[in-house]
Amino acid sequence: MDYDFVVVGAGPVGSLLARRLCEGGASVLIIEEHAQIGRPFQCAGLVNPEAMEIVGLQDTVLTPIWGARIHGPSGEVVSIGSPDTVRTWSVCRKLFDESILESALQSGADLWLSSKPISAEQDDDTVGITISTSTGNVDVRCSMLCGADGAHSWVRRNFRMGRPKEMMIGFQVEVTGYIGEEGRLDMYTGSEIAPGFFAWAIPSGDTTRIGAWSKADMLQGKSPEQLLDTLMKSRLWTRRFSGCREVGRFCGPVPSGLVSRPLRGRVALFGDAAGLCKPTTGGGIGPGFTHVEALVPLLLQRTLGNLTQSGLEARVSKILDPMRKDQLRARALRDAFLTQMDDDELDNVFSVWSKPDVIELINEVGEIENPIPLGIRMLREVPEFRTLARRAVKAVLWG
Ligand SMILES: Cc1cc2nc3c(=O)[nH]c(=O)nc-3n(C[C@H](O)[C@H](O)[C@H](O)COP(=O)(O)OP(=O)(O)OC[C@H]3O[C@@H](n4cnc5c(N)ncnc54)[C@H](O)[C@@H]3O)c2cc1C
Repeated sequence: MDYDFVVVGAGPVGSLLARRLCEGGASVLIIEEHAQIGRPFQCAGLVNPEAMEIVGLQDTVLTPIWGARIHGPSGEVVSIGSPDTVRTWSVCRKLFDESILESALQSGADLWLSSKPISAEQDDDTVGITISTSTGNVDVRCSMLCGADGAHSWVRRNFRMGRPKEMMIGFQVEVTGYIGEEGRLDMYTGSEIAPGFFAWAIPSGDTTRIGAWSKADMLQGKSPEQLLDTLMKSRLWTRRFSGCREVGRFCGPVPSGLVSRPLRGRVALFGDAAGLCKPTTGGGIGPGFTHVEALVPLLLQRTLGNLTQSGLEARVSKILDPMRKDQLRARALRDAFLTQMDDDELDNVFSVWSKPDVIELINEVGEIENPIPLGIRMLREVPEFRTLARRAVKAVLWG
């Protein structure tokens, strides 16, 4: 055996996974297809407090985010949050990714850059992988192969492990000169700018990340760039964008909905490769980290021979089934409150949200990264939302 584990992909999830496996005494090889880490950049850079606590990388923070202004299609604004409670962190994603990888290397992982698997097969005890490297092909045998190779995961496709339920598309520009509020992110809704989803403006130090996400089948022939252009030229908000100067642009997929077989024999998927992004926010770093923390002890036991394959599968299902159900509930709530609404319905929702008692509820229970508890309280306690409850329950039951 050359290594206990081979991890494909040195994104944040693959690097944390490698670090934790090394800390548990395993030998780990990370292979990364790019020559450098954290590029291309495809992220709005928000890291929730739980994920930040796991990696302790406060020095990568560009702006602490304590609140949000959420905009309805016709201009109604709901402002939430208070400066004394940080809700999420806007980070430099390149520095963040590099720092996690650095910690994996310090824990003992090996790293091959400019390398990717070109074939892999498993038997009962091992996985054999042929890796294309900058100096030629190399065969490596390991006890377990982990795919943390992002939305279009090669590992997932090679071992036929299923597909994420939804694949959203995100487009983003980084600009200077946006007129926002320090520490507050802006969210914009409406069929012209982010059909079924939302657009955002996130303060990130000296710049602002302005983006939108949606599903390909909801775009009605428009490109994501056109949506963002519509937002920036919208008569309602154009003043905020008039002084913007673009310094970068990025486009990428957001896979959400855990794949059907995230563990198959001696092959396991993590992060975006497994379809872990949140259906409500698109955030993938938090759920990816939670998944790593939950599964690593089991994978280590398996390689030490302290856990049988069927024991591993049963315990992994026990962890992943609730995660799958959470995603389903969150998607149902998103659909009920956002994706299935037309602009008039959304305007009605905003007129209810902007009532002082509802804003109080949002501030009390709302979390940018976990809107389920708030959604459920609103369906229960706000009379105007009762009709939505029926839609949400149906989606949870049949989704
Ligand atoms: C526009 C946009 C905005 C987003 N904003 C946020 C946000 O604010 N907060 C948040 O939490 N999430 C956000 N996300 C999602 C977030 O970027 C991902 O969930 C996160 O990067 C997942 O980490 P990962 O390590 O699983 O995968 P990735 O970050 O995609 O890393 C995968 C790594 O694998 C490498 N790789 C791929 N294929 C191979 C191969 N065959 N061989 C070797 N290496 C390979 C890649 O080069 C990459 O380094 C956003 C996504 C988009 C598109």
